[in-house]
Amino acid sequence: MIATSSAIRPDFLSNPEKLHYIDGQWRPSLTGESLQTFNPATGRVLATVARGRQEDVDVAVAAARRAFEGPWSRFTPHERYALMLRVCDVIERNFDELALLDTLDMGAPLSRTKAMKDGLIKTIMYFASQAMSWSGSTIPNSLSGNYTTLTLKAPVGVIGGITPWNAPLISMWWIMGGALATGCTAIIKPAEDASLTTLRTAELLVEAGVPAGVINVVTGYGHEAGAALAAHTGVDRIAFTGSTVTGREIIKASAGNMKRIQLELGGKSPDIVFADANLDKAVPGAAMGVFNNSGQICSAGTRIFVQRSIHEEFVSRLVDFTKSIKTGDPFEPGVQLGPLVSKRQLDRVMTYMAIGVEDGARLAIGGDRLAGELAEGYFVTPTVFDSVRNDMRIAREEIFGPVASVIPFDTAEEALRLANDTEYGLGGAVWTTNVSTMSRMIHGIKAGKLWVNCYGLADAAVGFSGVKQSGYGIKGGAQHLEGFLYEKSVCINGD
Ligand code: NAD
Repeated sequence: MIATSSAIRPDFLSNPEKLHYIDGQWRPSLTGESLQTFNPATGRVLATVARGRQEDVDVAVAAARRAFEGPWSRFTPHERYALMLRVCDVIERNFDELALLDTLDMGAPLSRTKAMKDGLIKTIMYFASQAMSWSGSTIPNSLSGNYTTLTLKAPVGVIGGITPWNAPLISMWWIMGGALATGCTAIIKPAEDASLTTLRTAELLVEAGVPAGVINVVTGYGHEAGAALAAHTGVDRIAFTGSTVTGREIIKASAGNMKRIQLELGGKSPDIVFADANLDKAVPGAAMGVFNNSGQICSAGTRIFVQRSIHEEFVSRLVDFTKSIKTGDPFEPGVQLGPLVSKRQLDRVMTYMAIGVEDGARLAIGGDRLAGELAEGYFVTPTVFDSVRNDMRIAREEIFGPVASVIPFDTAEEALRLANDTEYGLGGAVWTTNVSTMSRMIHGIKAGKLWVNCYGLADAAVGFSGVKQSGYGIKGGAQHLEGFLYEKSVCINGD
């Protein structure tokens, strides 16, 4: 048993039986049911959360609709902006508790969750700035007569947000930020494995002055609470981040009332290293591009394509770097990788380790669970498979664990062909010092976000959207709010 992970308990968990947060109040499920959530570092129960079903979603949607049509609809852009600055202040003051909750609930090292403070505050500030910047337009028309034509924008209404467990601290803000900036309201259904940060954040928002009912949280399983939210006819739009399989279910469920949808789904992103790359940067960059957050990042660079002339050297340096990564108790200083989020995820990752070996890839390092006092947690060592072919299952299917597949290539054409030979199109990167190669790759790779000589950096002001089966709908940037707004065209007869 590891001492630190089991000893630390924030005030929010002094009562570990957490309820839904609806209309500014804590409410049990109407059935009275709850489910357990575990600390992945110890495998022990951390808390219980309410198990929401259709009837709880009905209550939350009604509350969100009332709030949307109530006083919240009369907030001016400036009032929403000022409120969001207060929200920012409250989140900043309570950030350490939120980081702690995320670490306990989903296992990322405390050093990682704490380091998200700057990015999170900038993200909220960015959405706050957008509260006063969206607008319609006047359009010169060719009508005969004295007509003025213009467009107005208006909030879409009630948003259903369904989020994953891999970065709860930030995932919820793609929904909350857009809703607060536009005057929409929202019901968030966080992942059943990591709901605590979202619940505490919703409570903090009301403390900051956000009217009750504007942001609601219903917890529970995806096939129950999530499915009910996705199908609810009182919800105008769904913003979903999660697996491609669930994304398909969301599309079907949304058909009933023709909901708008934004989907950010899985990935199998290529990370291409050319022989002219600066390996001092490319080796740690590509390694952490896949291992960060224990590989539980949708745009992780899981397929590392390496030009054959440097293949041997690259793999040897990658293995050395991987040896230096510290996996362990997420509260211990210096730990870079914590456990996987759940037993289910651990089993899934270990199954893929076996598949990789069976399919003939060479296990260069890793492939193990941690032993000793960490054996009860869901820890997996960072793993490198070498001599992988792009048609092997470990190169085609999303593992969502710290598993890198190294695939050698000869020419730029071949690298591009293999990089794009995937059903996904979320992220991708190239490491090169040659501008012409760089240009060719960034134009050629079919993916929504690309990095050159770096990996994984993000900023709320820079929008992106997946392609192929990685989803659609822009997240971030000036167009982020478009999903929360609809446009009306108006024609005025001036005579
Ligand atoms: P998941 O799709 O099972 O779960 C994500 C969310 O959807 C959870 O809140 C879950 O409860 C809910 N859900 C599950 N079934 C549902 C249904 N039928 N109707 C409505 N909601 C439902 O994903 P997971 O396995 O928990 O997470 C890992 C996957 O998420 C990976 O494929 C990963 O790529 C993807 N992901 C993508 C991003 C991204 O930004 N693109 C980020 C994180 C995770």
